[in-house]
Amino acid sequence: MSTDKSTNQVSLLPHCVPCKSQCCRYSSPILDRTERDYIVETTGKDYFVEVETPEGSYFVIGRKPDGSLRELETEPCSFLTPTGTCSIQQLKPLDCRAYPLRAVPQVNGTLSWHIHRACPAVGFLSERFLEAADHYARLSAGRFPPRLYQNWLKRFSSWTLEKDAVLREHEEEISDLRWWQSFFADGFESLFHRQQGEQESLHVATALAALAGLCDDSNVLELAGRRAWLSHASARSGTGTVTAYFGNPFPTEDDAHVFKERGYPPSLSADYRLLPFDGETFDLVLGHELCIGLWRDEEEDRRVLQEVKRVLRDTGTFVLGLPNLEYCVREELCDKTLMVSGKTWGISNYFDPESQRWIQHRTCQDQDGNSVTKASSCRLYTWPELSSLLQAAGFKTTAVYGGLDGSKLSIRSQKMVVLARA
Ligand code: SF4
Ligand code: SF4
Repeated sequence: MSTDKSTNQVSLLPHCVPCKSQCCRYSSPILDRTERDYIVETTGKDYFVEVETPEGSYFVIGRKPDGSLRELETEPCSFLTPTGTCSIQQLKPLDCRAYPLRAVPQVNGTLSWHIHRACPAVGFLSERFLEAADHYARLSAGRFPPRLYQNWLKRFSSWTLEKDAVLREHEEEISDLRWWQSFFADGFESLFHRQQGEQESLHVATALAALAGLCDDSNVLELAGRRAWLSHASARSGTGTVTAYFGNPFPTEDDAHVFKERGYPPSLSADYRLLPFDGETFDLVLGHELCIGLWRDEEEDRRVLQEVKRVLRDTGTFVLGLPNLEYCVREELCDKTLMVSGKTWGISNYFDPESQRWIQHRTCQDQDGNSVTKASSCRLYTWPELSSLLQAAGFKTTAVYGGLDGSKLSIRSQKMVVLARA
């Protein structure tokens, strides 16, 4: 909760900034008297209200700074600053430290585990964060009898009681790469077409092919996600001379429909970290933005590059088109609102200097006001960093450009286009 949410130095900050601290705006943590007294004595601020139940009482942050009662479902927590930070960061309630994880005491003495899936950081929780959150969630829940705790959940934290909040044992989706599937599903395609037109796709494909010296009979591997530029260009030109493969680790349900509609060559779903080619090699491997950076860490990006090296012919070329970090930080760190097909898309961007990851939250709101937020996280590389990574993966000759026209890379270049050879 809040933009400086941290748990034992394990921070959700990169997601809390673009999220604008939503979780601090519609509910209240539960506190016992000891925790409440400690905050009041340390800060001199008493924004708490005691809630009586037949099983005892608990406290919620139920007052506004002017002393009037706070409407918990619609008014922000009184400790939230206008800039979206928690003013009691070092003292904040145990329940806030554990969020979006929650332990719920059961009458039989066990705990059931719940997670708030509306939190955009849910797909990105590290093991360290989960470990710390587990600790605080147990401490928080352990203070209250089950029925009293249930009273608080029903009145002030109803998400916990939703069916899909229950955490299944060994649930993998908390922190694995399945956020890809969700992020690029549903209305993303229409948004993408609005942002980048079809003509541009063909232009990119043609220019990339020229830069890489592509011949008619070249054997091409395209690591593409949905944006298969070369496959697209090949299908549209009708030449059929480019043998293009389509890789996507987590295809969405309607991918097959999209591929067919665009007339792509036979596609292949593949995990780029373990390419499914045994003996088949390529003259050109084309890596799009989704090729590296979206993986969990640098080590996984290195594995992708090693796989590319393995399937590249000795005379082959690897072309990688990535966002230029310096340009993104200078030009793209802003919020945008777009109207597409009757839906309103709110896009928030944040660059985390510590992890060098670009965090984007997209909130899609339909005409009835229902909204869903999805998040992505992408490591952006500087050219020296990427050059080292390529060398570590076994590439010997590399060159970098600021565009498909072979121009010099500068802070004004939108893209960083890299050519690497074995
Ligand atoms: S909802 Fe999640 S991402 Fe948003 S502020 Fe709360 S913890 Fe951070
Ligand atoms: S105490 Fe801090 S972290 Fe907890 S809800 Fe309030 S502002 Fe958010």
